[in-house]
Amino acid sequence: MISEMYIKGTQVNYYFICKTKLWLFSHNITMEHESDAVKLGKLIHREVFKRDEKEVQIGPIAIDVVRVGNILEIREIKKSRKMEDSYIYQTLYYLYFLKKFGIDARAVISFPKRRENIEIELSREDETKIKEILMDIEKIINSPMPKPEYRKICRKCAYFEFCFA
Ligand code: SF4
Repeated sequence: MISEMYIKGTQVNYYFICKTKLWLFSHNITMEHESDAVKLGKLIHREVFKRDEKEVQIGPIAIDVVRVGNILEIREIKKSRKMEDSYIYQTLYYLYFLKKFGIDARAVISFPKRRENIEIELSREDETKIKEILMDIEKIINSPMPKPEYRKICRKCAYFEFCFA
């Protein structure tokens, strides 16, 4: 199996949020705690889509909800549309990963609080982009830690003390 298939969905997500966060997480430096936002996310997961399989782990990927029908449907549940690119590429990576194992699936990103869904399809262009992202992630992980750059999101990041204390 090629090395790219060991990359976690969270790493693809962090690639879009912060390269320092991606590097720290990838080197097993985890400081994520149960913030109110994380607790709210878990509650939404429990209360929505009660009849489906939840938090399904397939190798390095952990899918929020899997619905088995004529075609497999995967669902990512998010609280808000902030950081939308990170969710979209994380979900595209799941579709890419499943396709590598011969599994065709469709994907939906749900925002229960907004009662909104976005359907995600994996195009050939997306596959090329995902391959580039995975190669770049490997390059970042195998290089020295990217220097932290302060942005608004840092204030809510679990690594804040690590980066700026
Ligand atoms: S505190 Fe800011 S720079 Fe540091 S990992 Fe978090 S988001 Fe990145």
